[in-house]
Amino acid sequence: TKWVYIFGDKKTEGDASMKELLGGKGANLAEMSRLGLPVPPGFTITTQVCTHYYEDGQQYPKELKEQVHSAIAAVEALTGRKFNSTTKPLLLSVRSGARVSMPGMMDTVLNLGLNARTVEALAQEANDERFAYDSYRRFIQMYSDVVLGVDHDFFEEILEDFKDEHDYALDTDLSGSDWKEIVAAYKDKVKEELGRPFPEDCEEQLWGAVGAVFKSWMIPRARTYRTLHEIPEGWGTAVNVQAMVFGNTGEDSATGVAFTRNPSTGENALYGEFLINAQGEDVVAGIRTPQDITEKARIEAYSEKPSLEATMPEVFAEFKAVCDTLENHYRDMQDLEFTVEHGKLWMLQTRTGKRTLKAALKTAVDMAESGMITREEAVERIAPSSLDQLLHPTIDPNSERDELSVGLPASPGAACGAIVFNSDDAETEKANGRPVILVRTETSPEDIHGMHAAEGILTTRGGMTSHAAVVARGMGKPCVAGVGAIRVDVRNELMSVGGRNFGKGDVITIDGGNGQVLAGRVQMQEPELSGDFKKLMEWADSIRRMDVRANAETPTDVKVALSFGAEGIGLCRTEHMFFEGERILAVREMILSDTAAERKTALAKLLPFQRQDFIDIFELMVDRPVTIRLLDPPLHEFLPKTEEDIAEVARQMDVDPEELRERAEELEECNPMLGNRGCRLLISNPEIAEMQARAIFEAALEISKRHGRRVAPEIMVPLVSLKSELDIVRASIDQVAEIVAKELGEKPAYSVGTMIELPRAALLSEDIAASAEFFSFGTNDLTQTTFGISRDDAASFLGKYQERKLLEKDPFVSLDIEGVGELVKISAKNGRKANADIKLGICGEHGGDPASIEFCEVIGLNYVSCSPFRVPVARLAAAQAVL
Ligand code: ADP
Ligand code: MG
Ligand code: MG
Repeated sequence: TKWVYIFGDKKTEGDASMKELLGGKGANLAEMSRLGLPVPPGFTITTQVCTHYYEDGQQYPKELKEQVHSAIAAVEALTGRKFNSTTKPLLLSVRSGARVSMPGMMDTVLNLGLNARTVEALAQEANDERFAYDSYRRFIQMYSDVVLGVDHDFFEEILEDFKDEHDYALDTDLSGSDWKEIVAAYKDKVKEELGRPFPEDCEEQLWGAVGAVFKSWMIPRARTYRTLHEIPEGWGTAVNVQAMVFGNTGEDSATGVAFTRNPSTGENALYGEFLINAQGEDVVAGIRTPQDITEKARIEAYSEKPSLEATMPEVFAEFKAVCDTLENHYRDMQDLEFTVEHGKLWMLQTRTGKRTLKAALKTAVDMAESGMITREEAVERIAPSSLDQLLHPTIDPNSERDELSVGLPASPGAACGAIVFNSDDAETEKANGRPVILVRTETSPEDIHGMHAAEGILTTRGGMTSHAAVVARGMGKPCVAGVGAIRVDVRNELMSVGGRNFGKGDVITIDGGNGQVLAGRVQMQEPELSGDFKKLMEWADSIRRMDVRANAETPTDVKVALSFGAEGIGLCRTEHMFFEGERILAVREMILSDTAAERKTALAKLLPFQRQDFIDIFELMVDRPVTIRLLDPPLHEFLPKTEEDIAEVARQMDVDPEELRERAEELEECNPMLGNRGCRLLISNPEIAEMQARAIFEAALEISKRHGRRVAPEIMVPLVSLKSELDIVRASIDQVAEIVAKELGEKPAYSVGTMIELPRAALLSEDIAASAEFFSFGTNDLTQTTFGISRDDAASFLGKYQERKLLEKDPFVSLDIEGVGELVKISAKNGRKANADIKLGICGEHGGDPASIEFCEVIGLNYVSCSPFRVPVARLAAAQAVL
C-alpha cells in the first residue's frame, strides 16, 4: 500500500480531489504545488495510516518507515538540504490535517530537526544566531507541549520572567545569546518535569511528532468538535511533513493569514493580517497586534502600523496574484496562510474560507453575478440551517447605549447576557436558563463548549482571525474581539474598563456588528431581510418545486410567515384559540356540559370568537391556501385545574363546584395522547366540528365578498385511522356547508382532508384517500406512534440513545427516513393511487428540517409547512433538494 504522497514541484503525487486520503490541508498543498505556486516541498502520510493505527493497537503499517524515509530523501533533493545534518540542516514542520478543517483542534510542530548540533549549523549558515535559537526555543516549547505533554505555561513563564528581568517588551527584542539562555532553561525544565532530557535525536523527534498528530485525533477536544460538527471518527487525520520556511529571519521576513474576500462582510477585497519577523501561529495567538495586509484595511482600522502593501510591495503584488489564482481555481473565497522568508513568498495553506452568513450570501451572489459560478451553485453554497443567523436580533438604533468600549466586530449580531469568565460557568448558567456572555482574554479550543453555551463572546486580545473570531463566525454567534481597553482578571472574576468594574453575573451587551461593548441590557430589534438574502432566496424560489407553507394561527405569526415568504398556511391549529382570554370559560362550560343542548349553548358563545379568528387569518391570506385543523387535543387539557378555576366556572355555569370537579375527574385519561382526541372527539361531540365548520365558512364567505376572490379553506380532520371516521366528520362538515349556503345565499368553497399521523392511516391510505382531497403528514405524532415513544417522555432516554449511537439523530427533529419515512412514502403512493389529484404536504417540525425536506422532495410532496421562522430555511432547502 502507498501510505505516503509527496508534494513539491513536478514530483507532486496528490491533488485537491484527494481530501479523503490526504486530508484537506495535504490535498490543497498538493494542488497548490501543481498550480506552480511557491509551496515548500513535503509529503503527506495518509488518513488511512491513522485508521490503521487505531485499528491495529496503535501501530503503524510496516512499510511506513521506509516510505517516509524515501519521501524525506525526495524533500532533501528538492531543497538541497539534509535532515539531521550539520551542514544545511533540513528542518520540518509536522502538521495535522483531517478531511475537513478543524480549526485549532490539532497541534502543529515547527522547526523539527533541531538539536544542539544542528542549531549551531543553522546559526552559522544563516549567520544569525538570534534566528537559529529563536527557532530552537519555539521547537522545544511546541514539541514539549504537543508531544511530551509539558504544559506550555512553564515555558511562557520562563520567557516572561526573562523579559521582565531584562526589561524587554517584545519577543523580538531578545538577542541570540538571550535565546540561547532561554533554550538552556527550557531544556532544564523539560528534564525536571519528565526526568529525562529533551530528545536530541532527529529521527525520534520526527516519529514522536507524527505519533502526536495521530494521538490528537482522539483527544477530548477533538472528539467534542467532531460530535458538534457530525464528523465521523473513522475519517482519521493525515499528517503533513513539510520543509520549513522561516518568517522569523528578520525585518524582511513575516508570517500571515489572509482571506481573498472579507470573511465578515463578504466585500470583494483581500483581507488579512501579518507579523514581521514572526513564525507560525504568532498572528492568531495574539502575541503582538498584527498589521493589515492591504492599505485599505489599514486605513479602515485606523492602524498606524504599515501594511504589507506598503512595506513589501513586491511580495504583496505576488501574493495578490496568488490570491486571484487560487480564488479563480477553487471558485470560492479562500483562507490562506503564508510566510515571507527574506523577501520570498511561500504559501503554506489554502482552504475554503469560513465566513459569516452575511459574507456567504454576498460572496455567493457576487460570484454568481460575475459569472464565476452559476445561480444554482450560489444557492447550493448556503447551508439552510445557517439562515438562522439572519434571524439574530440587532441593537435598536434608537436605544440608549452606555458604551464601555469598542473592539473588533468579529462576528455579527447583538447579544445580551450575564458575564461569565470561564466556559464551565457558561455551560452551567446556560443549563439554568440564564443567557451569558463569555468574557476571556482570548479563547482556545478548550473553550468550544463555553462558546456554544454563550449568547456571545467578548475577548480582550486577538484580531479578526483569532480563535474566538473564527469559531464564533462558524457558530453564528455574536463576537467582539480584541477590546484592549478592557482588563480581565480571571482569578477574581472581574472585568474592568474606564474605572468601572463588572463581576460575574453583571449584564452586558455586545454588538458584533460594530464592535461595541455596552453596560446592561439594550433594546433589540429584528433583522431586515433584504439585499443579497432577498436575491438568493428569489433564485431559490425559482429553482424549487415544492411550495413552502407555515404553521401559524395568530395574525402575528401569519404576518411573520408571509414576510419570510410563506405561500400558505399548512397548519392552523384551532386549539390555541380556545385558550385565549374569556373564551376558555365558554370552552370549559362546553366540556363540562352533560347534554348536547347545553354544549350547543356554550359553543354558540364561542362561534363569534372563532369566526373572527378566521376572518383575521383570511384577511391576511385571502386566496392563498390555508389548512385549518379541527380541534385536536384531549378535552381535559382545557379543564380547570385549580380550586379557584373550578369555583369560577361553577359560578358561571351555575352548578355545584363539587359536581364539576367530579365531571372533570371523569374526563381524566391515563394516556391522553392516545385517548379521546382528534376525530374521536369530533365524533363523540359532533357539535364541536359543526361550530368550527360554520365559523370557517362564514369567515371565508365574508372575506371572499370583501376581496372579490375565491377563499377556499382546507379543512383538516386529525387523528384518523379509519376511513369511516373521516366520512362521519366530513358528512357533518358538508351538512353545515349546505345550511350556511342556504342562510347566506352563497355556497362556501372548501376542501376536506386528513392528517396522516397514525400508522394505520398511512398503511390504508388508498382507502382513506377516496374520502380526502388532501393529506397532511403530521410527522410529530406519526413519529410518536410509529416508534411508540411519547415525545414528552423521550428526554430521559433519547439523549443516551444518541450518545451510544443507537439513533443517529433525534427522530423528532429530523425525520426517521427509514421507518417513519417509509410510512409516509407508502401513504403518498397509495393515496395517489386512489386519488391522482390528492394534495400532499408535511406539517410536523420536520417541515423545517433540511434533511427531511430533501426526503419530501424525493417522494414528490406538494409542499412542506414549518414554523414561520423556519420558512427561509425551508425555501432554501427545498431548492437544494431539487439540485
Ligand atoms: P492549523 O491547522 O492549526 O492551521 P498548520 O498546520 O496550518 O496548523 O500550522 C500552523 C502554522 O504553522 C501555519 O499557519 C504556518 O504559519 C506555520 N507553518 C506550518 N508549516 C510551516 C512550514 N513548513 N514553514 C513555516 N511555517 C509553517
Ligand atoms: Mg493550530
Ligand atoms: Mg493552518
